[in-house]
Amino acid sequence: MIRFASLGSGSEGNGLIVESGTTRILVDCGFRLSDTVTRLGRLGLAPADLDAVLVTHEHDDHAGGVARFARRYHLPVYLTYGTLVAIGGGAMMPRMSLIDSHTPFMIGDLEIHPYPVPHDAREPSQFVFSDGERRLGLLTDTGDSTPHIERMLSGLDALVLECNHDLELLMSGPYPPTLKRRISSRYGHLDNATAARLIGGIDCSRLQHFVAAHLSAQNNTPELARTAVCAALNCAPEWIAIATQTHGLDWRDIA
Ligand SMILES: [Zn+2]
Ligand SMILES: [Zn+2]
Repeated sequence: MIRFASLGSGSEGNGLIVESGTTRILVDCGFRLSDTVTRLGRLGLAPADLDAVLVTHEHDDHAGGVARFARRYHLPVYLTYGTLVAIGGGAMMPRMSLIDSHTPFMIGDLEIHPYPVPHDAREPSQFVFSDGERRLGLLTDTGDSTPHIERMLSGLDALVLECNHDLELLMSGPYPPTLKRRISSRYGHLDNATAARLIGGIDCSRLQHFVAAHLSAQNNTPELARTAVCAALNCAPEWIAIATQTHGLDWRDIA
C-alpha cells in the first residue's frame, strides 16, 4: 500500500509525503525549518520518521528549505545534477544522490520513476511512485503536457496534478505583463484547461484519488479548478481533493 499527504501546496511552499511499507520520503521542502516540523506534526510525523528528501527543481517554493532541513536531520537528498547546480552546490547537503530524469531508482520500499517536464528551471523532474503494484503520479510546475508525460501518467491509481491558474483570471488580473507571459508560457505553469486536456489524454480508469495542487491564490479558485477537472474526469466536484497552501492535504490511502 502507498499513502501520501501534503504539507502544503502553492507558490509559498510545497512538500509531499509519500509512504510505502517502512519507507517515508519528503518530496520538496519549500518551508522554513520550524514550519516544516509543524506541518509534519499535523500529519503525525517527526523529521526522524523520514528516510530521504527528493527535489523536483530549484525554485524556492520547492527547494528553499531543503538544505537546512536535510543538514539538521541528516537526511539524504535526491536531485538531478541541474537542480544541484542551480541550488548552488552540494556543500550545503552532506548526503546527496544524483538522479537522472529518465532512470528509475529505489528508496527503501519505494520505486521512483522520474520524468522531465517543460518548466523554466535548470533540469526539472517530476515523479511517479510505486510499491510494485500501485502507482502515484506527481506533476506540478510544468508549462504544458508532453507525449512522454502522458505515457508516464497513464493508468495511475492516484494523481496529484497542478491546476495553477485560470487563463482568463491570470490575463485580466493585476500581474505585470512579463509575469503573465512567464506563467502562461510553455515553460511556466499548468492552467486548468490544459490540466483538463491532459486528463482527457490519459487512462484514468484506475484512479482512486485526484488531487488538484499548486493553485494560485491570485489567479485561480478551488471551484474553477474543480469544474475544469471534473468535466474531464466525469466525476462529482466533491470527489476532487485540493492540496491547499495553508493546510496541505490529509493522508490518503491507495488501497
Ligand atoms: Zn512551484
Ligand atoms: Zn517552479
